[in-house]
Amino acid sequence: MNKFHYFMPTEILCNQDVVRENSIIFKSLGNKACIMTGANSSKKNGSLNDTIYSLEKENIEYIVFDSVEENPTLENIINAFNRVKEEQIDFIIGIGGGSPIDASKALAILLKNPDMDPYEIFEISNLDSIPVVAIPTTAGTGTETTPYAILTDNRVGTKRNFNQKVFPKYALLDPSYLIGTPDEITINTAIDALSHLIEGYLSVDANLFSDFTAEKGFDLFNDCVDSLIANDFPYAIRERIMLASTLAGVVISQAGTSLPHGMGYPLTYHHKIPHGKANGLLLKAYLNFCYENLNLRSKVETILDLLEFDTIDQFGQFIKQIMPNNCNISESDLRKYTLSMMKNEGKLKKHEGLVEEKDIYEIYINSLTL
Ligand code: NAP
Ligand code: ZN
Repeated sequence: MNKFHYFMPTEILCNQDVVRENSIIFKSLGNKACIMTGANSSKKNGSLNDTIYSLEKENIEYIVFDSVEENPTLENIINAFNRVKEEQIDFIIGIGGGSPIDASKALAILLKNPDMDPYEIFEISNLDSIPVVAIPTTAGTGTETTPYAILTDNRVGTKRNFNQKVFPKYALLDPSYLIGTPDEITINTAIDALSHLIEGYLSVDANLFSDFTAEKGFDLFNDCVDSLIANDFPYAIRERIMLASTLAGVVISQAGTSLPHGMGYPLTYHHKIPHGKANGLLLKAYLNFCYENLNLRSKVETILDLLEFDTIDQFGQFIKQIMPNNCNISESDLRKYTLSMMKNEGKLKKHEGLVEEKDIYEIYINSLTL
């Protein structure tokens, strides 16, 4: 427990209007930016306008690539690369949910290494990148404080982390960008943050710093439970979910994610289940598995305590209430995903070789059959 390495280099600034009030940080990164964002939401929630205001104030040139897909494919990022590679871009600003911010991290690698075969982003490790600024408009992935980028790799038919470490240089958090987010997105992304807290906390790579960060994250999340049930999200709750999500990013930047994330990727790839929901549906069975089969009873009990649930079943009722299970996935598909999960050494090693094929299959079956 006491032997660990803690590294979290992202500078985090949080307040309403943080982007407009801190234009100076953009100036410190260069003279030309590429903004990576999705097609719609950043135009509606003010984040794109605020960023453009700050860049123009500092006389920084910019190009907007507003075609980042949900669960971005490498091909989507290669499109952005082809569009801006001759433009002498100094830094990238990712605005949106996890998809545009992860796409920004991947583009930052490609722009720094323009001659590489882009598919090598999954193979060669520790490539350099140009700086990335993250402006999250969902509260869920925590990618603003992680070195990861989850890309859809059509060649292997699933989503996976690129093999690089790109911590954003700055994370600019403004909870007002979350106001007006449809309830379903708010819930799915919040449960993604909860999955990060849980998986990071129960990981073999958890350490003193990641644990106290996770415990504060559970505390903040607990304040939001009633709002998630009632679909009622005043500003103070949006702020708490955002902070819980950013803390959860810090947690997984140290401890990583484990079974629910690894098992959730094929549900997103093959069945279009949103990322947070895919994790959320697996959480109750995962907690049961950790409680019954792994040496994690007291940590599971701490999670339940901090979230103020008496039992794992009560936790499961909460998830069911906010996230109906309408997935209907066949047993033969679940067998296939079980076999592919058994090859995911990165995630399995978060539980020290204690997970067997039958355990994965049971978590799937207990979570997903209607
Ligand atoms: P997302 O895929 O980025 O966005 C989902 C939807 O939400 C999009 O339609 C987007 O619209 C919309 N949206 C974003 N902000 C909004 C707002 N403020 N109001 C209304 N709609 C808004 O969703 P996400 O759950 O944040 O990110 C998921 C991705 O992150 C997955 O690929 C997942 O694997 C990855 N992830 C990464 C990490 C990491 O550490 N790198 C961790 C966990 C998950 P627009 O397209 O118009 O913007
Ligand atoms: Zn996630």
